[in-house]
Amino acid sequence: MHSLDTLSGMTFLLGRPVVGGATDPRLSASVTRLLRPDYHPDRVFEMESGSDWPGDYPGRLILALANLAQFTDAVLNRLAHLITMLPAALNERGYLGPIHREFDEQQLAGHAWLVSGLLAHHRLTRDPESRRMAHRIIESLFLPLIGNLADYPVRSDDGGSDGAASGVIDRRQGDWLLSSDTYCIFIVLEGVVAGFADGSDPRVRTLIDEFLVLLDRDDLVSCRAQLHASMTAARSVLDYAVLTGSDAALNTARRLYQTYRRNGRTLNDATFNWFGRPDSWTEPCAMVDTFLLARGLWWATGNVEYLDDAHRIEINGLGHSQRPNGGFGLDSVTLPDQPWLTTAEYEATWCCTMRGAIGLVEARIGGVRFGPVGTNRLNIDFFHSMQIQDPSGAVELLMATDYPNNGTVVLTATRTPEGRPVQVEFHVPPWVGPEQLSIDTIASTSHRSITFELFEKRVVTVTIPMLERRETDGTVRSFRGPQLLCSDDRPSRTALLPVDDIFSQTEAEAKKFRARITAAPGFPKP
Ligand SMILES: [Zn+2]
Repeated sequence: MHSLDTLSGMTFLLGRPVVGGATDPRLSASVTRLLRPDYHPDRVFEMESGSDWPGDYPGRLILALANLAQFTDAVLNRLAHLITMLPAALNERGYLGPIHREFDEQQLAGHAWLVSGLLAHHRLTRDPESRRMAHRIIESLFLPLIGNLADYPVRSDDGGSDGAASGVIDRRQGDWLLSSDTYCIFIVLEGVVAGFADGSDPRVRTLIDEFLVLLDRDDLVSCRAQLHASMTAARSVLDYAVLTGSDAALNTARRLYQTYRRNGRTLNDATFNWFGRPDSWTEPCAMVDTFLLARGLWWATGNVEYLDDAHRIEINGLGHSQRPNGGFGLDSVTLPDQPWLTTAEYEATWCCTMRGAIGLVEARIGGVRFGPVGTNRLNIDFFHSMQIQDPSGAVELLMATDYPNNGTVVLTATRTPEGRPVQVEFHVPPWVGPEQLSIDTIASTSHRSITFELFEKRVVTVTIPMLERRETDGTVRSFRGPQLLCSDDRPSRTALLPVDDIFSQTEAEAKKFRARITAAPGFPKP
């Protein structure tokens, strides 16, 4: 068994990085957004009553706030308020919404976020009540699925994928109430794997194994499965593989990731909303999961291509989808024959704004990895300003950077055990060789990393050259460092702009964002 710290979706209490407007504007904006009145618990439970997705709204918000609480106490009151209001909203079986004779896949999916959120709250506060509520939902809502998943209908091309940005139950088939968010049943794995990590009930493992069979049964591309549901499942299966050492689960996660790379990835490393639907829109919820999946596969396999993908998703997919107000919204699907990146829906308040917060948290807390206690080893995969502490508290250091806007990363060791240095392995982005980095201490280089010692009270500065370049792989795209560059069609704008620059625009500008991301006649060179 591995510790929870190694799970891709549950990196928890690894450290308590500093958050603040000056040091991390994206995280601060997300906190500010989720504390606005439309996410007040009174409003959330008002929306919950009669919701098409029982459990979903409070579940996502509890999960987001429990994650953000690792950075800031500002969210704790809201979080406690939500947890306090929850019991009165539960039905006699301990879950939200109606008690159906059939399996309502939207109700099941919504409760996966709630179970995951309650267990995250329990890990944060040790509140036994949130854990008890989570396991009751698993017992009364999820475990009855055992023996029934084989009957989940194969969804067909006309499987309701004309749905709106938020799915609806649009058909009844056998024992199933089916959603236009096809295969959203897969999201249940989020809650079931969180429950498996938290307990030892063998029935939970049986259910996960039945989900693995279902994931391998259908061709998700021809069935036009929803990307977010598929990627949440893949990432949960990867967590299960890490927990159990199951090669079969790891292979399923890798296969689903390749399916995304081949059939669901846009030119700015965002996601289609459904496989086989380039006429749909992108979804930050799915990008959070492709990011976590790529990063988790990097951890599990050591294949650096996954790390490179995770960087691209974070900066050009998620980085573009976060709006100036801190929320997350939907954009056009960019492809070689659809080169215009435009805002489709400024903000998806009902899902992506909440799930996007988890992408921000994970890119920071999960961007650094300590070796086993006592080894004094630290891997740095992603670059963000934060205070970093190892789980024992023996090592504490600061990372300061404005990456990806520039390539300087400053590391300061504020505490090391008995004055011994920390061995830092700093992973190098793919567009530069390790020898092209500048560093003001002695370092050894390998294929894709540099290694150096960080002594107590000492500062080391690493500078990554943010090289401008073009990539040609069926189309031509321009980059500055990791940032994909774009060109809008206003005559006043002749310079190329990073796609993640939308975050620093005004809301009015972001709402009508429109820029070309592949080279065309007249496209300025970087
Ligand atoms: Zn979403």
